[in-house]
Amino acid sequence: MKREELAEYSQRVWGRQARAGALAIVFLILWVPGLVFLRNRLDWAENATRSIVILSAYAAVPVILFLALGVSRFRTMPKCPHCGVRFYPPLLASAITTGKCGHCGESIES
Ligand SMILES: [Zn+2]
Repeated sequence: MKREELAEYSQRVWGRQARAGALAIVFLILWVPGLVFLRNRLDWAENATRSIVILSAYAAVPVILFLALGVSRFRTMPKCPHCGVRFYPPLLASAITTGKCGHCGESIES
């Protein structure tokens, strides 16, 4: 792995993050009216428990979605060839600028 490859990776991830942020905003803009619509449509007087379960399931969708995206992003981060630690953003920046792992101090270029 070379510093240039890490810099390219960092730029790619930055572009992807900007797109993901825009999609998340669109998703939330669509999700909130859906929540209000669902709350108004559910039969709270007749079947309150069922209504709470349906509404909770709908509310859990963005949480699960964002958790899954976070986990998948973490799993694709490059790793140090020596200690195996993932280059999350602060370590990635130091690896690009110094060429050394911020965790073990070894050179990342092998
Ligand atoms: Zn390391």
